[in-house]
Amino acid sequence: MKWIGLTGGIGSGKSFVSSLLKKMGATIIDADCLAREVVKPGTPGYRAVAAVFGDNIVLPSGEIDRRKLGTIVFADASARKKLEQILHPRILARAAEAAQAAAARGELAVVFDVPLLFEVGWQVQMDEVWVVFVKPQVQLQRLCARDGMTEAEGKHRISLQGDLNEKATQADVCIDNNGAEEATLLQVKEQWLRVLQGTLPKRRILERRPHE
Ligand code: ATP
Repeated sequence: MKWIGLTGGIGSGKSFVSSLLKKMGATIIDADCLAREVVKPGTPGYRAVAAVFGDNIVLPSGEIDRRKLGTIVFADASARKKLEQILHPRILARAAEAAQAAAARGELAVVFDVPLLFEVGWQVQMDEVWVVFVKPQVQLQRLCARDGMTEAEGKHRISLQGDLNEKATQADVCIDNNGAEEATLLQVKEQWLRVLQGTLPKRRILERRPHE
């Protein structure tokens, strides 16, 4: 079973690419979705977060107040580390379960959609890393159009993430999403067919520490 790590920058087109892959039959494992699941009330993750961060990050509904938690860890690196130590092993374990289920269905590869893959250091866990790349002006324009942001807000949001150019240089596969959707579709199709044929990408840049 191959793990394809799909990443990029805010508004670069990851959701678009993952929707194309889904239509081609790929199982998409969504890291953001798993991050919410592993802290649902009643789970060990929930208890661990409440034990470390206290009851004031629990909403009256009993759910974790993700916004409040986000504010705390954004301002405090050691709190962020603690949260990551709770979340990351649990997210990876759930991803491994999903990958095993896909393997049992006879699938050869899964796509792990991780917006901040490089920032959390998970590139080494992937068999291949695909980066959805756009030029800065395209990224800004699409982000602002999608989320109704001003240019200044958009620039600020982009600056909070790792540099997209740098991510592209570390990718095994760089999907150029600057052009029309059709042009991206052709690249994604070519790469997905290659994966299913069991061929390696042309660029093998990263040292891999396999997940299995
Ligand atoms: P985020 O990390 O913020 O979730 P994302 O990387 O998933 O962003 P998308 O939501 O897929 O990005 O794309 C950003 C916006 O750009 C969306 O409105 C999407 O419809 C549009 N878009 C994506 N690719 C293209 C394209 N090739 N041509 C035109 N518009 C596009």
